[in-house]
Amino acid sequence: MGRIRQSLPVAPRSSEVECRRCGVVCQKVVHPSRCLEQQCPFLYAYDAFGRTYVGCTQEIFAADIDLEVLERARRRRNGFGSVRAVREPLPICPADVERAYENREDPMGCINPEFHELPDRPSFRVIRGDD
Ligand code: SF4
Ligand code: SF4
Repeated sequence: MGRIRQSLPVAPRSSEVECRRCGVVCQKVVHPSRCLEQQCPFLYAYDAFGRTYVGCTQEIFAADIDLEVLERARRRRNGFGSVRAVREPLPICPADVERAYENREDPMGCINPEFHELPDRPSFRVIRGDD
């Protein structure tokens, strides 16, 4: 089955899905089991080699995932886990930012805080000094 890509009436998005501006490596990820749970209309499925595979028509993640493996993993305590986003997640996407090599973080902290803004989350959290 071919992939159908529909353009969405949303604001232009940045294409940054990975940041390496400091010693840490930050990567945007999505949780495909939650795409399934929320019955995202952009999921597609096809049968091949006697199995059913699912993927994202918006190509937010690139992998085609075995549906039975995904369903089985969903029932386990740790779930299926996340897959790397290859395009900026949409507001409906169950997205997160995962960080590797956190011990390398600069003492001044993140120099690209905008990277952690996800479409459906508040931009910046302002914390008062006396809190
Ligand atoms: S990554 Fe986003 S667009 Fe793609 S299937 Fe999941 S929720 Fe839908
Ligand atoms: S901590 Fe900030 S600057 Fe460093 S890689 Fe992550 S987003 Fe980029």
